[in-house]
Amino acid sequence: MTADLVISDGTVVTPERLLEADLAVDDGVIAAVGDAETMPDAEEVVDASGQLVMPGVVDPHVHIDGYLSNDTYETGTSAAALGGVTSCVNFAWEAWIGDLSVWEEEGTLLEAVERQKRKGEESLIDFGLHGVITREDPAVFDELEAVIREGVTSIKMFTAYEIGLSNGFMDRVFEEIAEHDIVAVLHTEDASVCNHLTERLKTEGANHPSEYPRARPDYTEAMAAEDAVRMAQEAGAKYYGIHTTCKKAADVLDDFQADGSEVRGETCTHYATLDESAYDEQGTLAIQAPPLRTPADRDAMFEHLHDGALSVVSTDHVAFERADKEVEHWWDSSFGVNSLQTTLPVFHDEAVNDRGFSYPFLVRVMSTNPARTFGLPGKGTLEPGTDADIVLFDPDEEYTISAADNASIADYSIYEGRDVTGQVKKTFVRGELIADDGEIVGDPGHGEFIHRDRPDWEPNRQ
Ligand SMILES: [Zn+2]
Repeated sequence: MTADLVISDGTVVTPERLLEADLAVDDGVIAAVGDAETMPDAEEVVDASGQLVMPGVVDPHVHIDGYLSNDTYETGTSAAALGGVTSCVNFAWEAWIGDLSVWEEEGTLLEAVERQKRKGEESLIDFGLHGVITREDPAVFDELEAVIREGVTSIKMFTAYEIGLSNGFMDRVFEEIAEHDIVAVLHTEDASVCNHLTERLKTEGANHPSEYPRARPDYTEAMAAEDAVRMAQEAGAKYYGIHTTCKKAADVLDDFQADGSEVRGETCTHYATLDESAYDEQGTLAIQAPPLRTPADRDAMFEHLHDGALSVVSTDHVAFERADKEVEHWWDSSFGVNSLQTTLPVFHDEAVNDRGFSYPFLVRVMSTNPARTFGLPGKGTLEPGTDADIVLFDPDEEYTISAADNASIADYSIYEGRDVTGQVKKTFVRGELIADDGEIVGDPGHGEFIHRDRPDWEPNRQ
């Protein structure tokens, strides 16, 4: 046999360990991992000496094209490719009418899935979709079977904004989710408390961006999480808490996992690597919801990633431009930050270099766990037979992050000027090189829609 590619002399990182090994790729999948003598001949050999050979990052929380993002699939997934992200899960929003809507009329969830699949034809990396229920219309329940058949096996709900669902309706959704054995994905902030606090800050004229965290404090996130997790548990639904920011909310997930309930959660790169002082330094550019928290909350994110209460690190990538962000009052700013291109180098630098976490930990929280949590077949590992989604990463290269390098339409970075050690050198998706030393070399359209299975959740606390 002659393989398409052998990656030689690198250090292979699995979810469990590091090994000095070569890796062969054939026909888009990993054909072998082992000693050089055991490798087949190959059309091409890439020398990875001094580099880590890791599974590509699987980011289960991105906003690309469609809603809440100026990025097209081409720009958003180019940023991903340069950052070592080889698959992502984006959102298919049930169209609604309202101040925050971009639609003229209401639409169904199935239409949203079809719309996003079409947009994704320009993707460089593989992508899946979460469905988002934005309205309290029980007609959506009749669509779930068809949505699942389309490969969409998770449903997102909000507790805040005009698309926030009442507890009563959410309770019904959890029952449906349990019945279909799919995953509930929750954005939790108590809307009425956040609205009340925001109005009070406006009245006080507290318009400096450093006031923003007071509008959406940690306890509002924890309160709403507690309600939602409790309903999910009563219904027997798989529950995934997105963008967990603080100790109080992570402790809720931790408490509900104690009895083996199917409760999981993520934090985002920025909640683990920045704190609320960023609003002093960067103003509204750093605004997202929920807000950045305290240094103690950052530490809590790592404690709970370590003990398993949190098991995934995502980006919540949202591409706005300075013009959208830099407005007079923080409450008029567009919420969301971009980080697909920087998530791996920034989180690596913080977790491995600064806090002493291992490379297998990095691979688990950024690749293996998100793939298993959301039923992405063949992603998140380097096991033979799985997709050859591979990152070559130089752990010793030092560089300074600058938005001048952004492939995203977003023209700023919340990590601007940050010195990091560790850089993405090459990114392969299904065996094809799509990013090489800071340049995009793949073609838009190489990415494929990932038809996701119903995930099988093993207990995540052993
Ligand atoms: Zn998001």
